[in-house]
Amino acid sequence: MKQRIALLGSTGSIGCQTLEVVERHPDMFEVISMTAHSRWQQLAEQARQFMPDSVVIADPTHYAALSEALADTDIKVYAGDEAVAQVAAAGNVDVVVNALVGYAGLAPSVASLRAGKKLALANKESLVVAGDIVMGLVGTEGSALVPIDSEHSAIFQCLVGEHSPVRKVIVTASGGSFRDTPAEELSNVTVEQALRHPNWSMGAKITIDSSTLVNKAFEVIEARWLFGLRPEQIEVLIHPQSVVHSMVEFEDGAIKAQLGTPDMRVPIQYALSFPARLELDAPSFDFLANPELTFRAVDRVKYPALDLAYHCLREGGTAGCIFNAANEVAVAAFLGRRIGYTDIYKTIAHAFDTLPLVARPTLDDYAEVNREARRVAEQFIAKR
Ligand code: NAD
Ligand code: MG
Repeated sequence: MKQRIALLGSTGSIGCQTLEVVERHPDMFEVISMTAHSRWQQLAEQARQFMPDSVVIADPTHYAALSEALADTDIKVYAGDEAVAQVAAAGNVDVVVNALVGYAGLAPSVASLRAGKKLALANKESLVVAGDIVMGLVGTEGSALVPIDSEHSAIFQCLVGEHSPVRKVIVTASGGSFRDTPAEELSNVTVEQALRHPNWSMGAKITIDSSTLVNKAFEVIEARWLFGLRPEQIEVLIHPQSVVHSMVEFEDGAIKAQLGTPDMRVPIQYALSFPARLELDAPSFDFLANPELTFRAVDRVKYPALDLAYHCLREGGTAGCIFNAANEVAVAAFLGRRIGYTDIYKTIAHAFDTLPLVARPTLDDYAEVNREARRVAEQFIAKR
């Protein structure tokens, strides 16, 4: 039987690559619903190609235009954040691909798991903000969670068939756009430079997050929740080639790694096809053409954001929620040219310094802290 997919964030980088996977295996996968934030024309085009039952435009101001564009089809058109979570939980959906960016992904992740879906999760922010709640829901009504993030997919693949505890995981980091830029030059870098990632083509926010290593910090938190690890079991290494996607070291010192040419369709497809593997047109990795795989320690002075992940793991509660909210605001301000590049970290640090932590938060607490942290970050930015 075909897997029926709700694709949240179909117009984004992960969303479009998910559609490529579906297109390649029409006998295996079927898109039941697709959602986008504001790019309604692209969503309408995708809907005409994949003919889902429904589409959702999260920004309701585009509802009329999208409805009009699909008026001659049977596709149902909805609008608003709640509709995104509703299509994820719908009865005719087997798998939810959550390819939303930011805090907006949390509610749909929760809704998917509560409704017993398999959640193929690209939206790492769900776990950064509320990993305790999200992981606590895995198994409800038979629900499951499979990671799409390439590092976590690599770890997940290394763990298949293993039953013994792990010694540690080694999460690799490309180093992002400024890996070869001296720390003292970072205050003058431009948005265009920051958006030029050496190895991956991704959405704007995650490209900035990769350059600050906030993305890697988020992935440390993500790994903690997905694989139940202690902070000292998660190591990060800079690996400029992005060929080793991550590694697991076992108790006997044996290390398993998952390798390949950087291509997000691999982890996306694996999340959908697990435990099977499906054919993909990715070329074989050529070791002789790429004989150098190198690793080095992260410069913690140049990349202070990475230590915040370990701070969040130690503190727990709403620390990750504050981290995510302040970062979202700061990255948007940087992309909007309202602050400089190094102000991103300063904004996050300010939010941590200003806001108290809530232990054992509920989803309502997370929503409140998300609002507060955004307000505090906006205030800080307005004064700069
Ligand atoms: P993107 O910006 O390219 O796409 C985001 C999608 O979410 C778009 O379809 C957009 O319409 C939708 N969206 C944005 N804000 C929304 C909101 N408030 N409400 C509803 N929908 C909204 O982002 P991306 O690069 O595809 O990343 C998506 C997620 O996957 C992120 O969490 C990112 O960290 C993670 N991820 C991405 C990659 C990658 O290669 N792009 C790799 C690993 C993990
Ligand atoms: Mg990643």
